[in-house]
Formats: sequence, C-alpha cells, structure tokens
Amino acid sequence: MINTHDITGLVLAGGLGTRMGNSDKGMLPLHGQPLARHVLQRLAPQVGQLAISANAHAEDYATFGLPVWPDLLPGQLGPLAGLHSGMRHARTPYLLTVPCDSPLLPPDLAVRLAAGLSENDADLAIAVTEEMDPTTGSSVRRPHPVFCLVKTSALPQLEAYLAAGERRMRTWHGPLKLAEVLFQEHGAFGNVNTPDELAALQAQGLSVPMAQAILADAVAPVADLEQLALPQALERILASDIISPISVPAHDNSAMDGYALHGADLGGNAPVTLAVVDTILAGRPGTVPVQRGQCARIMTGAVMPDGCDSVVPQELVRQSSEHGITLAPDCIRPGDNRRFKGEDLMQGQPALLQGKILGPAELGLLASLGIATVPVRRRLRVAFFSTGDELRSIGEALEPGCIYDSNRYTLLGMLTRLGCEVLDMGIVKDNPQALETALRGACAQADVIITSGGVSSGAADFTREILARLGDVAFWQINMRPGRPMAFGNIASDGHSALLLGLPGNPVAVMAAYYFLARPTLLRLMGADTQTASPLLLQVAAQDPIRKKRGRTEYQRGIVERDPDGSQHVRLTGAQGSGILHSMTQANCIIVLHAEQGHVAAGDLVDIVLLRGLI
Ligand code: AMP
Ligand code: MG
Repeated sequence: MINTHDITGLVLAGGLGTRMGNSDKGMLPLHGQPLARHVLQRLAPQVGQLAISANAHAEDYATFGLPVWPDLLPGQLGPLAGLHSGMRHARTPYLLTVPCDSPLLPPDLAVRLAAGLSENDADLAIAVTEEMDPTTGSSVRRPHPVFCLVKTSALPQLEAYLAAGERRMRTWHGPLKLAEVLFQEHGAFGNVNTPDELAALQAQGLSVPMAQAILADAVAPVADLEQLALPQALERILASDIISPISVPAHDNSAMDGYALHGADLGGNAPVTLAVVDTILAGRPGTVPVQRGQCARIMTGAVMPDGCDSVVPQELVRQSSEHGITLAPDCIRPGDNRRFKGEDLMQGQPALLQGKILGPAELGLLASLGIATVPVRRRLRVAFFSTGDELRSIGEALEPGCIYDSNRYTLLGMLTRLGCEVLDMGIVKDNPQALETALRGACAQADVIITSGGVSSGAADFTREILARLGDVAFWQINMRPGRPMAFGNIASDGHSALLLGLPGNPVAVMAAYYFLARPTLLRLMGADTQTASPLLLQVAAQDPIRKKRGRTEYQRGIVERDPDGSQHVRLTGAQGSGILHSMTQANCIIVLHAEQGHVAAGDLVDIVLLRGLI
C-alpha cells in the first residue's frame, strides 16, 4: 500500500499554450479562478505535497504558495522536462504528474494509480481509457501518459532516455515496469486546448468542492477582538489559544470515598489490616503522615496523602472500625481510584485553541482554570435583502401573481443562530437604481451582504452590470441542486467594502446555498477553525432508492429515524422541488449526494447533515 503522504503531486504548467494564443494555460480563468487552481484543488486531497512545474510566469504560479519548479533541462521539452524536474526535486518516493489544464481529473486518480502500481509491482502507473475506434467500431485503449504516478527512484532511466536525445512521453520508461490503470471516466482526462474547450468547460458549471475551496481561500477572520466575561462569551469564537495557567486537578486526589493507602501494602493471599490514622476531606488536605501499614479515611476529590497511591472504596472494605480496616486479598490493584495531578489539563499545555466556538463545556473548562475573561472575535455584521418585484412583506396584501417574501426570514433565522449581527434591509425591487442603492447602503454598514434572488441567468443581467461597477463579483453556475446560480465577490462604495454572497431565489435553494457555501464562509470570517466551519457528515442507510444525477451535488431533505432494532435509516420528505419550503420543515437532516454518486439503492449508506447540528 502506498501512503498518500509519500506522493508529491506535480501540476505540469511549463508548456507554451500555443493553441491558446500562447497564453499560459494554467492561468486562464475558469469560473473566475486560474485553471491551475482548479487542478490543484482536485489534486490536493490526494497527495502529501503539491508543487507546480512552470517556466514562464513563475511569479504568477508562486501566488499559489506552493513550490514552483522550473525545467532543469534547456529547450522546451514539454511534459518530460516537467517530469524530470519533479523527479529531481521531489522528496517523496512517488511523484504524481497531472497537466495544468485538466480540471476534471478523477478525485481518486492517486489511489487508483497507486493500487495499480503496487498490484503489478511496477515502477510507474499511467491512466488509460477505452474508446471506440470510429472506423473499426472496436474499442481501443487510449493512454494518458501525463497522468503518471512514478517512483522517484526511476530518475536515472529518464535521464538516460533524455541524454540519448529521446523526447516522447510514451516510451521514456524503457525497461521499467509500467502498469496501465483503466479508468471509465473519459471526460476526466480531457484538457483545454482551445478557447472553445474552455468555454465548454465553463458551461459545465463549477463543482461544489471547488466553490467551497474558492470561498474558503477568499476570506480571512475579522481582526477585531473583544475581551468578554465567561457568561457573555457563550457561542462566541475564541480568538487566541488558551494555555492552562494551572494544572487541573492541582494535586493527585481520590476518585472515591474510601481509604487512601500504599499500594505496596496490598498483595499476598491473606487479608490485609491497616491502621486508620487520619481523615481527609475534599478541600482539607491531611495533617498526619500515612506510613506503610497505615491508611487514611478519604473523600472523593480530597488530596492524596504523600506516599499513598491507591484508594480502596469504602464498600469494598471487609471490616472497619474507628482504628483500622481489613481488606480482602485482591480487592483492588495498586494505583486504583487515584486521579493524577494535571490529568485533565497540565499547567503550560494548550487548553483550547483559537477558532473554537465556546459552548457549555468550553465555558466550564475555562472556569476550571480560573479564567474570568476570554478574547473572542467581534461579531460579524451581515446585511441581507430579498430581490424581486413579485415579493410582498408579511402584513401587506397579496396582489395577483405575488408571493410573500420568505427568504428574509429563513436568512434571519440562520444568521441569528450563527451569532451574526443582522441587518434586515427588506425587499429590493428588480430595478437597477433600487439595487444599487441597497448595495451601497449595505456596504456602508456590513462586513457581508447576502442577497436572495436575481442571480439566475435570466434575472442576472442588470445585477451583473451593477456588481461589475461596484466591485469584482463572479457569477457562478454551481453543479448543485438546489442552488445552482450564485454570485460571489467583493464590492466597495464610499470607502467601505463588503463581501457579497448572492444566493438564488428559490426558498430551499437559499437554504442549501447558505448551509453548504455561505455558512462555511461566514464561519471562516468569524474566525472559526476549519473543523467547525465545515458541516459534519454522518452516514446512514437509505430506506428507499433515491434517484440522483451523476455529475452534480444534490441536497435532498431527509428524515433520519431509528428502527425498533436500534439501527437508523433515512428517507426523503417527499417532493424535493427547490420551491417546496415545507420539505425543510419536515426534514431533520439534509442528505448530501456527492457529484460522483449516481442513483442510490435501498440500504446504501448516504451522507447526511443533521439540521440540528447546523446551529
Ligand atoms: P430568481 O432567482 O429571482 O429568479 O427567483 C427564483 C424563484 O425564487 C422565483 O420563483 C421567485 O419568485 C422565488 N423567490 C425569490 N425570492 C424569494 C423570496 N424572498 N421569498 C420567496 N420566494 C422567492
Ligand atoms: Mg427574482
């Protein structure tokens, strides 16, 4: 088995991009991000280290914060030179190369190539796909030699091949053992060679993990802190690490009401009789030395007398009088029922790390350390409004064709629970002036602006134009359902700037986009650690089959229940339309069906997120 950590993932970006008008392919924008970034995001979870092989525009590639390795060989040798440089630079036993323009590469590329390499005891493994030969109608194997996992120890072979003037990627391995690993997903190895191919890729939409990664990278925690007394700090986010100023407990102490004794007095086959020389209460340490052959009556939490290392619970004592006790052989083992000094927290050790949400246990822990106030991040100010001429506020009459604005209330609920300072800016009509005024007003007052509606392709035109004027906002088509359209970027007005999250209009889409895209972003801005920021996925068996389209992430409303036998299953709430808000009220979880998944069979395990867990 090859460990992920033993693989360096190398994105090959050293080419000239001649068919793209000599532009650097890795830097071409896809969904507002450089193509190479998409590839890195896909590769990152699969390998231990990442690096980029680039020659021109090395400064651009350096902005990814990863090592950039130029070719070590003169002349434009293409991918082989990148492979060569990678094998020279990599500090791991394996190198995985992928081209910078293949953003759809399989999410399990590394594991499958690694399995093929190990099973065949090979030196390198490359991906192959099977394709129909249009003339003969028979299937042919198409190798993808640039998608290559290789032992870095194969470097001498590559150097000998290059020294002989050879240049072909297909045959460099010579006598080394090659494993070809068959992949079914043809499209995954497609790369971008022409502007049309880039446009086609753009039209395919943005994957949820990539959207999440872009959002996560785009924001940093607010800098301002507040020092709060513990009772006020509940649900706030800790802004710096807390180091234990004391050890908890401060002394070895008893875990039981009983008698503290020397463990060395136990043992043997005969009953043991010990003289009781002291009584020690919690908060009142003993005053008399306890010698061998003696013991002290002791209460739970009371400090252990010097030399004593065990406590016999009073109910295990065979006979007791004021002066002595008798213990049966083997009634306890030496060391039993003693709590050690610092076993909860040792002085000088980190007790809580920044980024933690302060819940009841954290408040208690801080109190156990005697800490009265803690630094927390300031609250995030979030302005939100709904867009749409058809929307009416509750209390208003509903004219024909109109609907009540529900999104503002779900957003209000979700944002308030998250601990944001909310600014409800009402309904904004579908007209450019109204939208611009609202956005400028929100910008002046908030860190983040969340809108709903008006970002779907039909509706987006004037929104797009205004947002372009106010800042840098990308319009995404995300491969998710519900919640496909979304706008994201920064806008500025009168010296104030704000992050803009333009959510879709349909009520369930708003909630899905909020929980899986906006909420992690807000939590990051609030200073929460990564674990807190991403929803916790649990696995439960599906009660019935679920229809699911491969290639997009689907969020279905589910009800998870316990069977009489104690096992759990999840079932759908019923109709799953993105406008059916009552499905969210029936659900106690969201079923997360990932892009690579197809139909779910009854009994299959599916990922769920408990709605209660989403605060
Ligand atoms: P849009 O993205 O603006 O085209 O809206 C998509 C759908 O969501 C339309 O059917 C809208 O009427 C509906 N919608 C938009 N905003 C809201 C809202 N605040 N409350 C309820 N439904 C809405
Ligand atoms: Mg609308």
